[in-house]
Amino acid sequence: MYIDTHTHIYLNDFDDDRKKIISDCLDNGVDKLLLPNIDKSSISAVIKTCKDYKNICFPMVGLHPCYVKDSYKNDLDYLKPIIKSINTVAIGEIGIDLYWDKSNLEIQRNAFIEQINWAKEFKLPIVIHARDSYSEIFEVLDEMNDENLNGIFHCFSSSLQDAERILKYGGFKLGIGGVVTFKNSGLDKVVKQIDIKNIVLETDSPYLTPTPFRGTRNKSSYIPVIANKLSDIYEISSEEIGKITTKNASEVFNI
Ligand SMILES: [Zn+2]
Repeated sequence: MYIDTHTHIYLNDFDDDRKKIISDCLDNGVDKLLLPNIDKSSISAVIKTCKDYKNICFPMVGLHPCYVKDSYKNDLDYLKPIIKSINTVAIGEIGIDLYWDKSNLEIQRNAFIEQINWAKEFKLPIVIHARDSYSEIFEVLDEMNDENLNGIFHCFSSSLQDAERILKYGGFKLGIGGVVTFKNSGLDKVVKQIDIKNIVLETDSPYLTPTPFRGTRNKSSYIPVIANKLSDIYEISSEEIGKITTKNASEVFNI
């Protein structure tokens, strides 16, 4: 019924109770989880978790912009062959993050561009991480977008204007998670003006826990909390939210 399109359930944070969380997910109708690695060191945990929970967990492969270092070319060379060797559903998470470090914009951009080219080569969607970097990302996509490029703007939490610009590319949807439940985010008002056909659900667990669970570890079984918030926003049932967002995610990720 629901898909969590972005969770880091493979991280150590879940080593003690991963099995229980996945069974809670299934009890709550969350029956597919999409797992992006972060860097070279996290890919084996992604692969192992997807093997342990086959047909529930699906891998994504990419180099997170916060982990793009001077040696990023080696990391990309390491990651690229893995895409074909496992059943990768997307290239991600990739993008540009200028919140933590502005000094390495150039290599972040280079890594982003190279990974968009992987997506084109392997005909996979991309999952974009954008933080304080929408205009830099738009600059890249203005150059590289084509009729086959598609994907998700993960953890979308920007303006209606940015949302409209993203949707104009034609192949992109917005990943909506816990931030939409935060009282002062204003994201609910933006989302209300976006057609739900452009929305997919995500937790980004263990991060960005939705209200009223803030301050604790986020988990994929909270996806219905986000669906309930969207149900209030769009004034349709959570079941309907589940049905539509699952269809949206299945189309993008081909699962
Ligand atoms: Zn993430």
